Amino acid sequence: MWKRDKKPVVGVFGFSGCAGDQLAILHMEDSTIDFFTSADIKFFHMAQSHQEVPKVDIALVEGSINTERQLKELKEIREMADVVVALGTCACYGGIQYLGEDVKTFKERMKYVYGESGEVPEFLDLVGKPRPAQPISEYIDVDIMIPGCPISAENFVPIYTKLISGLLPQKYPMPVCVECKYEGNDCFLLHGKYCLGPVTSAGCNAICPSMDISCVGCFGTYEGANYPSMINKLKEIGLTEEEAIRKLKLFGGNKIEQALKGD
Ligand code: SF4
Ligand code: SF4
Repeated sequence: MWKRDKKPVVGVFGFSGCAGDQLAILHMEDSTIDFFTSADIKFFHMAQSHQEVPKVDIALVEGSINTERQLKELKEIREMADVVVALGTCACYGGIQYLGEDVKTFKERMKYVYGESGEVPEFLDLVGKPRPAQPISEYIDVDIMIPGCPISAENFVPIYTKLISGLLPQKYPMPVCVECKYEGNDCFLLHGKYCLGPVTSAGCNAICPSMDISCVGCFGTYEGANYPSMINKLKEIGLTEEEAIRKLKLFGGNKIEQALKGD
């Protein structure tokens, strides 16, 4: 880690996604000023112009990897950074774009979009040859994951504060259901309604069930999750196994596949 007698150097990098996590940082209101003053921000994809990846203490990386060029840049970031943080559910688990893997093969999807040749038009070649969507952890070591679609200030600020103090924060050790119980909500599952709270990482304060909306799992996977049991529960309330897995993979991405294969 870096010396605490100087401000850490931070870079915010963006790959494929909606850029919502970078916007969430810019919209943290009072905390946005602290974000820019408590560290030396050397790179911020959405907020500054840049040429090369700088040497940073902390790299906050948003988005999944979808092209050869992104993969090259991601590896450069890993080489230049002491700590790499996956920012948001696309970077952590692949995001919604990862779901395409279920529908057609990558080659079929390319043909569907670009015609029989399946080749990207030349003018799009600037972004590099396409690859199937993958979370950043598929290619590099990731030190911290901050899921969320997008991340919330309540989740991000405490983790970031620890990081810039030279400490490595722990992952949330509980699912959304625990926060849901703290909020005193009546459980959807007990009423035969869909909810992914038991397999989703806490950190959002169970905002959806508290507003009478089922959790769809946007904070990503909870490490102690029991997926076979969740799938059985979803089947009990009327989903097919295929539908249940697809719902889990919406935000759980590659982690669901790994868990169901027993990896
Ligand atoms: S409503 Fe959802 S998040 Fe809340 S306890 Fe039930 S399953 Fe968990
Ligand atoms: S309750 Fe579930 S869907 Fe809603 S913000 Fe939290 S993790 Fe996302």
